[in-house]
Amino acid sequence: MSTITQMPTATKYATKCRQKDCQWEIFASPLEFTADGQATQKTMKFIQALSQHIATAHPQQFAAFMGTFQESFGLLTLMHFLIEDPTLHRRFNFTRAGYFRMTQVARISDLDIQEKAGRLWDLPEDERPAALVAMLQDMRDVLTERGKYSILDNPVSGIVQP
Ligand SMILES: [Zn+2]
Repeated sequence: MSTITQMPTATKYATKCRQKDCQWEIFASPLEFTADGQATQKTMKFIQALSQHIATAHPQQFAAFMGTFQESFGLLTLMHFLIEDPTLHRRFNFTRAGYFRMTQVARISDLDIQEKAGRLWDLPEDERPAALVAMLQDMRDVLTERGKYSILDNPVSGIVQP
């Protein structure tokens, strides 16, 4: 039997629709997950309420959502196979890259790169190679959400911290 991990039930949080001009929101107590990370019935009902809102209030977004859902099913299926077909391989990578862009939180602008690279020239010449390596590693960590930029410590934008 699995145990349920939950926060105090008295605490409720607002979850607001992000669609333009929509004021819909729901107040719910924190989600529950079993010790092995599975969602409970309560959690599934919460997610159902959100998806039902999208389906009824924003049918165009819901249609796109369902297309994305089918793509994600295909992507998750294909991940378990070595793909020889180059067309299927390209499609797999196109879908995978789309998910990456859709879920990516961190971004590095050209201005960010110019500022970081510009700081290298302030250093003594013999310190630049190590500083360049550190700068590239830091940018990698930002883009791959590891280390101090880990998504576990820095929630996705759109999720409001209480
Ligand atoms: Zn809405």
